[in-house]
Amino acid sequence: MADVMEKLVSLCKRKGFVFQSSEIYGGLNGCWDYGPLGVELLKNVKDAWWRAMTYREDVEGLDASILMHAKVWEASGHVAGFSDPMVEDKKTNERYRLDQLLEENGVDVTGLGMEAMMAKAIEVDLKSPKGNELSEARQFNLMFKTFVGPLEDDSARIFLRPETAQGIFVNYLNVQSAMRQKLPFGIAQIGKAFRNEITTKNFLFRTREFEQMEMQYFVAPGTQDDHFEYWREERWNWFRNIGLPERKLSWHEHQGDELAHYASAAFDIQYEFPFGPGEIEGIHNRSNFDLSQHEQYSGKKLQYFDEESREKFVPYVIETSIGASRTTMACLVNAYHEEEVKGDTRVVMRFHPRMAPIKAAILPLVKRDGMPEIARTITEDLRKHFRVEYDEGGAVGRRYRRMDEVGTPFCITVDSETLENDTVTVRDRDSMEQQRVPIAELRTHLDKSMDAWEAV
Ligand code: ATP
Repeated sequence: MADVMEKLVSLCKRKGFVFQSSEIYGGLNGCWDYGPLGVELLKNVKDAWWRAMTYREDVEGLDASILMHAKVWEASGHVAGFSDPMVEDKKTNERYRLDQLLEENGVDVTGLGMEAMMAKAIEVDLKSPKGNELSEARQFNLMFKTFVGPLEDDSARIFLRPETAQGIFVNYLNVQSAMRQKLPFGIAQIGKAFRNEITTKNFLFRTREFEQMEMQYFVAPGTQDDHFEYWREERWNWFRNIGLPERKLSWHEHQGDELAHYASAAFDIQYEFPFGPGEIEGIHNRSNFDLSQHEQYSGKKLQYFDEESREKFVPYVIETSIGASRTTMACLVNAYHEEEVKGDTRVVMRFHPRMAPIKAAILPLVKRDGMPEIARTITEDLRKHFRVEYDEGGAVGRRYRRMDEVGTPFCITVDSETLENDTVTVRDRDSMEQQRVPIAELRTHLDKSMDAWEAV
């Protein structure tokens, strides 16, 4: 299993999906750079989410700044409570997350608070991965701190946002009145978030800088449970629409200490990664906690006036919170396949075609008889609609394999028959079957095939 991750990380580097951050300086833990194909994949994931979430009447988009007033994080509870239980290896001083160490040692930590976890650690005589004694656990705050302006004192101290949601809460009335929205309505945002995770591992799964896609849906008190169910179903279906098969997805319901004190319900959607099931999205029924806190800390009224009932109240919130980078990683893991083809191993990335960084490659069979010119013209025409690539280097079989490895769903080959009847072959990445298609119908053919694609 770990083997698959190693192969994937290596393919990602070799093919320009993901590079280690600051690699020439030895890298920076928990940070990754998206290369030319990775940034395209990530963007396709974000675009799919943005279209699904904001191209509708009841959800508006927003892009709030990363740096916010320090009080935001006091109101949200992050200053006091956004922390993980940390233990230290007494010999090496290396730091670990206690819940993760326990889980790696087969202890179920569901619903346990820090004290209960520490008791378990003593019970199973938990040691560090290096086999040394561990310190007592303490809570470690995950927010990155920095300063605004030239003075580096406490009054200038602010945080890099650990989630995008607060930018939405503090703008909820601005958006509502600017867009003349009525409850229920939502605000969606995509943006970077930063968490000083104690340990980072599993490639893009847990990083210190990552992108979130969050939506807060504001509803009238008493209606939250129905909206919660609605959004659970919507979000589950979205993952299927971007090509993650249902059999790899599961629900995890928060229980006991896992559930925030103000939340009445929280469910995670998990994807089955090679290292086990991991959360990719959380859907939370959050009561009116966030807006009420901001009312209290800012001293500004954040009530909604319902024109029909003539009532004023602070709306309840359903939140959908997903990691763009984690979802991109799920797409990468899910796409990776090795298969035997005529005694050779073929590596193929079976992305949903709409997620694939390159939609089609246009290949002249040989570099003569006008084939390159025709292939160039097709490339320019298709480029207006899709990200396509022209490739004339090497035997056509090798060019197909290169495209398989980066998950390009279609290879369009210009051959001698093209010169006679203006048709080309379209090779399907998954079945490797070829079909003759008139050049004039290429765009429609690609569009239809992409829509008809289903995860196997
Ligand atoms: P975890 O328990 O894995 O630390 P969380 O419950 O703290 O995650 P949320 O605060 O609910 O996560 O964040 C919402 C989403 O943001 C997660 O479902 C995940 O996709 C993404 N996310 C959170 N932390 C990270 C991280 N360190 N790296 C990448 N993505 C992250």
